Amino acid sequence: IIEIIKGDITKIEVDAIVNAANKTLLGGGGVDGAIHKAGGPEILKECKKLKGCETGEAKITTAGRLKAKYVIHTVGPIYRGGNNEESKLLYNAYYNSIKLGDKYNVKSIAFPAISTGIYGYPKEEASSIAIKAVKGYLEVNTNIEKVIFVLFSEKDFMLYEKQLGLT
Ligand code: ADP
Repeated sequence: IIEIIKGDITKIEVDAIVNAANKTLLGGGGVDGAIHKAGGPEILKECKKLKGCETGEAKITTAGRLKAKYVIHTVGPIYRGGNNEESKLLYNAYYNSIKLGDKYNVKSIAFPAISTGIYGYPKEEASSIAIKAVKGYLEVNTNIEKVIFVLFSEKDFMLYEKQLGLT
């Protein structure tokens, strides 16, 4: 059920792609910028109606020109040393995103490595939280058939390979 791919999340053919957004949901750099650029202005238009999103929560829009049906916007924590509930908030970001996708009946969902870019979350710990949250959700009742972790660099891809025991 869990797969890993090295590449650009905007190119993945799944029902929903998850965006590592900021609390305003009004666009940013990194994966957020790439999703809005590839998906077109329709996504931002819908985001403007959502009135932002709290850290660890998730909201959904359609996906504009993307192949996906939906974009699930979640806000990961900014890493400030690790004693500010970062791990719980990162877990929640993954868990609430997959839960929201399930509610919208998506069968396949793709995640980027939330918080590990501009937000500075240490990659190894973030990857283990990502996997734990997704596996934790898949253990409950779900119609989700496929979860893809999309890693932007070879190094990140190898880290997930290791964490999932694929090497
Ligand atoms: P955050 O602010 O949550 O840290 P970033 O967008 O800065 O979000 O980075 C999150 C992760 O997404 C990083 O690992 C970055 O390398 C990766 N990333 C950036 N662009 C893309 C893309 N087009 N597809 C998949 N992953 C991406």
